[in-house]
Amino acid sequence: MNAAKILLSLYLVFAIILAQFSSAYFFSKGKASYRKAFSALVFCISIYLFGYLMIINSNNLQEMIFWNRVQYLGLPFISVLWLTVALLYTRTIYSLKPRMALLLFAVPILTLLIRHTNSWHHLFYTTWEARQYYGYSSLYMGRGFWYYINISYTILCLLLTVITYFIGYLRNKAGYSKSHFLIFFFASLLPLIGIALILLFFGERSIDYSALIMPVSLLIISYGILRHDFLEMRTLAREAIFEDNSAGMVVLGPGKRIVDYNRAAEQFFATMHIELSNNPIERVLKREPKLLEIFQSESDREFSMMVDGEERFFEIDAVPLGDLQDESERMLKSIRDVTEEKKLQDKLRFLATTDSLSGLYNRAEFMHLAKKELVSAQSNDEELALLIMDLDNFKTINDTFGHAAGDEVIREISSIIKSSFRKTDIAGRIGGEEFAVVLKNASLEDAKKVAEKFRDTVAQRKVIYGDQEIGITASIGVAAMDGNTDDINDVEDILKRADAALYRAKAMGRNCVAT
Ligand code: GH3
Ligand code: MG
Ligand code: MG
Repeated sequence: MNAAKILLSLYLVFAIILAQFSSAYFFSKGKASYRKAFSALVFCISIYLFGYLMIINSNNLQEMIFWNRVQYLGLPFISVLWLTVALLYTRTIYSLKPRMALLLFAVPILTLLIRHTNSWHHLFYTTWEARQYYGYSSLYMGRGFWYYINISYTILCLLLTVITYFIGYLRNKAGYSKSHFLIFFFASLLPLIGIALILLFFGERSIDYSALIMPVSLLIISYGILRHDFLEMRTLAREAIFEDNSAGMVVLGPGKRIVDYNRAAEQFFATMHIELSNNPIERVLKREPKLLEIFQSESDREFSMMVDGEERFFEIDAVPLGDLQDESERMLKSIRDVTEEKKLQDKLRFLATTDSLSGLYNRAEFMHLAKKELVSAQSNDEELALLIMDLDNFKTINDTFGHAAGDEVIREISSIIKSSFRKTDIAGRIGGEEFAVVLKNASLEDAKKVAEKFRDTVAQRKVIYGDQEIGITASIGVAAMDGNTDDINDVEDILKRADAALYRAKAMGRNCVAT
């Protein structure tokens, strides 16, 4: 036993323990796919290091060859797993699909098989030799054809890994992932250097530089993980927010392919008997052209559908993912049920525009709508008339029968108004017992006739209140806007005119129409 061998062995034992611990840790905490890949990577590294530890402590060539075979249970997969972690972690790919996995792992699997059947064909190693350096054993091999294929593929994977992290570093704006990409970038450079050293110097020194360097890489990555806690809190929080959000979320990738979706989105589509899958949105929604159009659009849209016999409303928003300049079609579509909000809005709008006693428009809403009608009549050169009705001697009704009876009279008059005019006419309660109606496309003469008929209807009607019969009459002022009335510019003007006419009707003895 000499010092170099003891030191190297201690170093490897420490590295194996670290690797095993990391592997178990990330496997147990692994929800995201890159954590599983990282766990597998570290596990393969630990096999490789264990094999190396055993080789340098071997006593004969046979033992060394055996432990080299053990090394090759993990070694072929290290670089490709390193690349897989990079692709997943930088979100270059979202999941490892079987076809891509086959493509990536074809060479490593062949390497595993060829190495373990080497004694039959010697495609991997041509010769074996045990050498002693500084007192510890070292295995020297003559390299075969497949060895070079494997090492080329290894270098390619590590190069792609380094490039992936570097691009990730350049493209990512969020500070936390930026620093991780840089840490991972350097950690991935190291094994590349290790391989370069093996190719250049292994024949002379017979030291496996990769085995020496890999634990350092692992340490750097562990530092990154523990220091920034990135695989933990942030990702978990983000995942939880995504997965448990009450809003449905669908992530669209290049080609408008569905790359991810949450439970709520699944439910939303399930009500339409659509199953989400990792396919282009065109294919998934081919039976729902309207929804497809919304999901392909880059703007916020509304959608409604029947759910359990009730119409429900959804807001489907589009959030671009990544740089706006970049031409890709990455997008987050969020689906929010806004039915309750809409109901509440409708209710508020109703309360704000409707008079509660009569059910007619209140004064403000009446003025608002009348103004709109007036403007449209003016621009279309159409006629428009306005009636103001005021109940006669209402104070006396209140005094004689009580305020509640007065209210009942107002309600009754309102129902007469609702049934007496056209749907297109606009009726409002503009004062205590004062009502107004805008008649579209009506001349002064037409309006007068309508007013007269209404006056008559009111005069005929008796309001029953308890066991009392209350007779009511109304006076009506009529004004109209047509070709001759160019001094009417505003609702206020026509209202003033009708009011003046109403005043005259009162003066003429009430229960009559004046213009
Ligand atoms: P005139 O024939 O000149 O119109 O006489 P009038 O008594 O109807 O006089 P006026 O139109 O000025 O009176 C309005 C009265 O209507 C005053 C008020 O006590 C009563 N009033 C206003 N709003 C309500 C209401 O919501 N309910 C009841 N019961 N009475 C109201
Ligand atoms: Mg009155
Ligand atoms: Mg009045």
